[in-house]
Amino acid sequence: MQIDEKTIQQIIEETLDKFSQDTYPRADTGEIRYGNALDEPGCFDDVDEAIMSAKEAQRKLAKMTVQERGRIIRAMRDAAMEHVKYLAELAHDETGFGRVEDKIIKNKLAIEKTPGIEDLSTEAYTGDDGLTLVERAPYGVIGSITPSTNPSSTIINNSIGMVAAGNAVVFNPHPGAKKVSIETIRILNQAIYGVSGIRNLLTTSKNPTIETSRRIMEHEDIRLLVVTGGESVVKVAMKSGKKVIAAGPGNPPCIVDNTANINKAASDIVKGASFDNNILCIAEKEVFVFRDVAKELISLMESNGCYRASLSEIDKLTDIVLVKNKEGKYAPNKKYVGKNASHILSKCGIHTTADYKLILAEVPYEHPFVSTEMLMPVLPIVVVDTLDEAIEKAIEAENGCKHTAIMHSENVNNLTKAALALDTTIFVKNAPSYAGLGIEGEGYTTLTIATPTGEGLTSAKNFTRSRRCTLSGSFRII
Ligand code: NAD
Repeated sequence: MQIDEKTIQQIIEETLDKFSQDTYPRADTGEIRYGNALDEPGCFDDVDEAIMSAKEAQRKLAKMTVQERGRIIRAMRDAAMEHVKYLAELAHDETGFGRVEDKIIKNKLAIEKTPGIEDLSTEAYTGDDGLTLVERAPYGVIGSITPSTNPSSTIINNSIGMVAAGNAVVFNPHPGAKKVSIETIRILNQAIYGVSGIRNLLTTSKNPTIETSRRIMEHEDIRLLVVTGGESVVKVAMKSGKKVIAAGPGNPPCIVDNTANINKAASDIVKGASFDNNILCIAEKEVFVFRDVAKELISLMESNGCYRASLSEIDKLTDIVLVKNKEGKYAPNKKYVGKNASHILSKCGIHTTADYKLILAEVPYEHPFVSTEMLMPVLPIVVVDTLDEAIEKAIEAENGCKHTAIMHSENVNNLTKAALALDTTIFVKNAPSYAGLGIEGEGYTTLTIATPTGEGLTSAKNFTRSRRCTLSGSFRII
């Protein structure tokens, strides 16, 4: 058998590549696995280097088939699932937000319900003039700016969707969640390398900051920006002059009318609003309840594990959990974001051994708890007299975010009227808010709900460019 020079070169390269692999200890168990020898695959001192390496990795991915991409996605899901608890604990330790058991659910949700390559469909048009195909092509390198509130689940979710679409990703994790974010990227990269030999398909800088985030936004090799965060980062990204998919803040209102199953409404609201201590952007942030069922709802919520604050306790709470920002607007006191209800109560001088899920505060509509996205287990409840009043106040409290709203009612006309008027991206009927993301609810999931830019619940197809190929006059079979 004759072997040409090119084949010899290829064999040498493959062999060297094999030898450059090493055994690798898993961070959580110390168990030795075969894989990439780099300490922090995907993690660079310099953000420009992170972008350059991702670009190189994407070129390699572009040479693979879609089926091979599918195998990469499978490996990413498996690796993330293997570390699901570890990543939840790490996120909790680092950020101090939420509850480990709920973070496990969020991570599992991202692993299991984020669409992969099956999300990419081809359109075909045939006619007397021939055949036209419209296919979904990758952008190349995507810049993804991620939040502190769902760090690992957002990275798992974005990575699966963006890689399924054929892209590499440069992440800018929130500085307050950089350890868990880098660890998530490392675990996913390791899995990608294990089945494809591609390094650095997901990258980040070692020290992500607002400056590195801006550098990603302005870099010429970043073809698409995907931003998940608060108002300020969304505004900055929209000015970048690039294509932006922006997932911004919310302040989801929850309406309970007098036809609702109050028992179920109470239980559902407590489940949704207390999930991960209310840091999910879709969680119930204020309740508007009809006067004739208000007492019953509040009392049933108390029996579902909530603490009802008295008027003087509400005053104390307000002083503690809210601050005024530079513009004179109320904002949550960061010390209490995502903390347990009992911890917040203890800071108000209410010491309890009970692990309350939520603090209920019956307040007038004008109270700042209603209009502020607090991201903590303090739930304002406002009593209303009519559906029109509930809708009007809910729209105002939602602050034009067009994010999420929830309603409990057995009256289809009331549900329809509210859903139409509120015009939110997600509208959940008779269930906890998280049903809108696919927990105890149908449909795929995302941790990047593109509200201001309108893509809604993002998935792989949103991370592709549409390309058309036309063949004139042939390829028909009729
Ligand atoms: P954040 O806005 O403080 O940070 C998010 C990311 O943006 C971080 O990586 C941060 O470094 C970067 N950033 C912040 N300000 C910036 C600026 N001026 N220039 C460039 N980059 C900047 O968000 P957070 O506190 O971590 O997350 C909570 C917020 O995100 C809430 O408002 C929540 O509703 C929202 N959120 C929305 C969704 C959604 O899907 N719509 C999902 C999760 C969180």
